[in-house]
Amino acid sequence: MTEFVDDLMARMTVQEKIGQLNLLPAGTIQTGVSENSPMMEAIAKGQLGGVLNLKGVKDIRELQEAAVNKSRLGIPLIIGLDVIHGYETVFPIPLALSCSWDIPAIEQSARIAAKEATADGICWTYSPMVDIALDARWGRIAEGNGEDPYLGSQIAKAMVRGYQGTDNQHFATDELMACVKHYALYGGAEAGRDYNTVDMSRIRMFNQYLLPYKAAVEAGAGSLMTSFNVVDYIPATANKWLVDEVLRKQWKFDGFVVTDYGAIAEMVSHGVGDLQACAVQALLAGTDMDMCAEAYTKTLEQSLKEGKVSMADIDRACRRMLEAKYKLGLFEDPYRYCDPSRRDREIYTLEHRQAARNLAAETFVLLKNEDQVLPLKKQGKVALIGPLADCKYNVGTWSVTATYQSGTLREAMQRALQGRAELFYAQGSNFCRDADIQANGAFYRDVPRGDDEQMKQEALAIARQADVIVCAMGEEQEMTGECASRSNLEMPDVQRELLGELLQLGKPLVLLNYAGRPTVLTWESEHVPAILNVWFGGSEGSDAICDVLFGDKVPSGRLTVSMPRTTGQEPLYYNHLPTGRPVTEGTKKFEKFKSNYLDVSNDPLYPFGYGLSYTAFEYGELVLSSSEMASDGSITATIKVTNSGERDADEVVQLYIHDVAASISRPVKELKGFERIRLKAGESREVTFSITPDMLSFYNYNLEYVLEPGEFEVMAGPDSSLGRLRKASFVVR
Ligand code: BGC
Repeated sequence: MTEFVDDLMARMTVQEKIGQLNLLPAGTIQTGVSENSPMMEAIAKGQLGGVLNLKGVKDIRELQEAAVNKSRLGIPLIIGLDVIHGYETVFPIPLALSCSWDIPAIEQSARIAAKEATADGICWTYSPMVDIALDARWGRIAEGNGEDPYLGSQIAKAMVRGYQGTDNQHFATDELMACVKHYALYGGAEAGRDYNTVDMSRIRMFNQYLLPYKAAVEAGAGSLMTSFNVVDYIPATANKWLVDEVLRKQWKFDGFVVTDYGAIAEMVSHGVGDLQACAVQALLAGTDMDMCAEAYTKTLEQSLKEGKVSMADIDRACRRMLEAKYKLGLFEDPYRYCDPSRRDREIYTLEHRQAARNLAAETFVLLKNEDQVLPLKKQGKVALIGPLADCKYNVGTWSVTATYQSGTLREAMQRALQGRAELFYAQGSNFCRDADIQANGAFYRDVPRGDDEQMKQEALAIARQADVIVCAMGEEQEMTGECASRSNLEMPDVQRELLGELLQLGKPLVLLNYAGRPTVLTWESEHVPAILNVWFGGSEGSDAICDVLFGDKVPSGRLTVSMPRTTGQEPLYYNHLPTGRPVTEGTKKFEKFKSNYLDVSNDPLYPFGYGLSYTAFEYGELVLSSSEMASDGSITATIKVTNSGERDADEVVQLYIHDVAASISRPVKELKGFERIRLKAGESREVTFSITPDMLSFYNYNLEYVLEPGEFEVMAGPDSSLGRLRKASFVVR
């Protein structure tokens, strides 16, 4: 590779080298390529390194042919797209996927996405998004893996493996190059407002926020995207410490770095210089590719003449781009991702859809199930009500490229109940009373509106005739994702009112809560007998909901975000630091001069790790193999889990550790292990975790990774709440 790239670069002009650093959008994803477009001209002149937002072998091949045949050196383009939670077979949103805690299945989802996207001409995906997010107001919490760095790191690695396969130096034609994003701290936006300021200590970065990016880099991710926000007051895109020192020198990242969309131009708004100055800072920081700002092509040549950047700086970035193309095999065969026969065979296959359906069912979290309302029987009269019941936009925020969609919940339920029960349907309400607010949360997928009062009457009329009511309510899918922050996380007004009136009928009622974030369900948890949090389940989500609702499958999702009692608790997360005036977990009464609120307890409504099943699990004592551990040794922690109910089911056994005293304050508990196990009704199993020095180590005040001797508490159980965890402790000598 080095020889090949050396030889090629020796023949490249400065302009051609800068051209390799330029990434532009192909217009809308559905539009075709036109012969004389400015993009074709740029390609012919060697001014473009890659293209994003284009799908389909025909169009992509046309661009690639222009690059190969019309540009002087024939360097192929890299073709990128946001393949975030599946391609045509859409998997649940990433936050939902994380709630499955099913690492092999998540890896397989990325594998399937890679197969499908490469069959359609794409070789590079802007995924995995591994930003830790603690504030549910931030809409992009939907795209990440929740609040925990350990689980987030396991998922980050699995996604990279799934996309890239095993050989990160030579990609096969059904493997996609991953792009880990958004480096870094994008999920730390103040007040949960997208693109907003981030300000945090380096200790927190190293122990919490940076871990999933690091894990993805260790798994061999081929590229990485910088974030829009500042890190230490410098935009991430131009932060030399972040990109060069941490990512490349400390973590030994050898791939290329691309900016987020237009980020170099946005640096001007951040107030750190004009476009030329920003481009210089970004290049010197080690950011190789400019996504959509055209800042490099417009200014770098001038900066070179003025001595603000050197030829070596441009060469370095150009080399990384060429190396990526080499690893993707594009020099060997620029059309290797353009096989027209693959689409029909490999996209949206029954096998892929079945995998998506199975995984979707694992992501739903059963929050409440009073009097075993669930599972429902396939009999009698079922009323399906709510703005999400017959809405086709129920797939998830990053499904922009999907053209097949398997349909609405109403259609799926009709299939599930065919010949066995009668289904009534009414929309019942709009998403929100205010048309403008609803439109804000619709992006370009507008949902038609009706008259709220009339819809409510229709809903009440069918509900009166039914034996059971199923409400499909919550967020519209575009109320989450990019630029979809909310200041109030409760069920929107008209939906809540309708729910209240339906409850008055006194019939068994199930709430399917659609959400791309942890929403506030305090009122619902007090009044609704059964709540299943279904997130946004992808193209097969509606069928998967029916699988769980009617008991063909047992719910097994566990929350990877703490669900708040009220929006004002945000940011809310389980692995917080202790305070000097702590209030014991579970305390309901306000305590003066302690760290708590006058009007609400500190505890989440539903904690991290939580989720019910149609069966019950019992936990035995937590037994350690020793009460002492050498600092280079290990011990084991074993706990017996029994399925004491009547259904075979999966349980996620969780292990937490707390460092009792250290040189810096350490979190009250941190997830350090988990195992998803399947237990038959009545079956017991001992689950053993090995506790290693790595699980006890952390970054100290000087950012050194250390294990400090002393006492550690170990906790294991079904979720992160102290009341349900079994405890033991040991000492590291
Ligand atoms: C988003 C990225 C995305 C990029 C390209 C940006 O607006 O922040 O996550 O990969 O657009 O579509």
